[in-house]
Amino acid sequence: MRQAKALNSKLLSEIMWRDFFMMLLWHFPNTATEAYDPKMRNVPYRNNEQEFQAWCEGRTGYPLVDAGMRELNATGYLPNRVRIATAGFLVKHLFIDWRWGERYFADKLMDYELANNVGNWQWVAGTGAVAAPWFRVYSPQNQQETVDPEMEYVKRWVPEVGTAAYPAPIVDHTFARQRSVEALRAARIAAS
Ligand SMILES: Cc1cc2nc3c(=O)[nH]c(=O)nc-3n(C[C@H](O)[C@H](O)[C@H](O)COP(=O)(O)OP(=O)(O)OC[C@H]3O[C@@H](n4cnc5c(N)ncnc54)[C@H](O)[C@@H]3O)c2cc1C
Repeated sequence: MRQAKALNSKLLSEIMWRDFFMMLLWHFPNTATEAYDPKMRNVPYRNNEQEFQAWCEGRTGYPLVDAGMRELNATGYLPNRVRIATAGFLVKHLFIDWRWGERYFADKLMDYELANNVGNWQWVAGTGAVAAPWFRVYSPQNQQETVDPEMEYVKRWVPEVGTAAYPAPIVDHTFARQRSVEALRAARIAAS
């Protein structure tokens, strides 16, 4: 009974996110294409097209990110946790504009819905009304070890992982974290 209640409250909170993002877009329609947080409206994203292409095709050298993007391309679906990992990698590690990722998900997701896609992308990018902190950059390697320690999910989508055919990481995690945090800090100071 207690378990059922806990499950229900978790489900309720997830569904409330859906309504929250719809309410946000209704009241702030500009946020479909603009950061909700004014301090995040002039971020100098790198927007490297080759790196964007590697992300789209699941060739970043980070197994959880690549597995997610390949699943998305093949099925039009992604579990929420992997949406967060792939989106976070694009905006924080590759430092590519969240709107590029939002549009790509819009093209591919079977459950695409504007308010929830935009709201979640802005949440991940740290630009939203309620957002993950802009300075938090999760390690894709640690995330994979936490959510898929036996690499069952990864191997289903990236069978060549661990072989010479699999690419080296497109960017070093520590370097990318520092690059993103410094650029975002500078952009926020310039905007205040
Ligand atoms: C970058 C990114 C983009 C997303 N784009 C979309 C989108 O275009 N369309 C879409 O419907 N959802 C989107 N989501 C939200 C979420 O990932 C999906 O609704 C989720 O995968 C649903 O899985 P589920 O049914 O197993 O959810 P459960 O965890 O079982 O949750 C139950 C229900 O709660 C709602 N819900 C759960 N998580 C979220 C969330 N983060 N935001 C809003 N509602 C939620 C959904 O209606 C879901 O069916 C996105 C999330 C991220 C991180």
